[in-house]
Amino acid sequence: MFEQNHYREVKAILDAKIEELGLRKTVERYKILEEVYKRDDHFEADELYFAFVERNFSVSKSTVYNTLDLLVELGLVNKRQFNGSHAARYEKSFGRKQHSHLICVDCNRVFEFCDPRLQAIQDSISQFYQMPIIEHSLIIYGQCQRENCQKNG
Ligand SMILES: [Zn+2]
Ligand SMILES: [Zn+2]
Repeated sequence: MFEQNHYREVKAILDAKIEELGLRKTVERYKILEEVYKRDDHFEADELYFAFVERNFSVSKSTVYNTLDLLVELGLVNKRQFNGSHAARYEKSFGRKQHSHLICVDCNRVFEFCDPRLQAIQDSISQFYQMPIIEHSLIIYGQCQRENCQKNG
């Protein structure tokens, strides 16, 4: 599935927010946004941090966490708690289609799926309860049994 990177659009949204909040336009914040929009996975904040460490890009852990929070607030990043015993995971959200997740309980691999029947369910529930729906989330857990599927705790 090809999806555009959208960096230019999301950068403009971050720019506006930083100006509104009177924050400094630090290189780090934009670097974090850029990295998030390059990735196609569901990553933990620490994974993002270590990706910078590996490349010798100097950024503090708290900057990574704070910037992710800001991006979540702006609706540019989704934060999800997939599994009670694991850290929250993040994924870019701008320009992305609504999708659901299937998680392997053994290796924590995340699969995405999109089923139009879910939209139909959402619509009929909205109608029944006379309530506009903001969003829904569906997580299905399974055992992928693929190669390299290892139990890791
Ligand atoms: Zn996803
Ligand atoms: Zn697995």
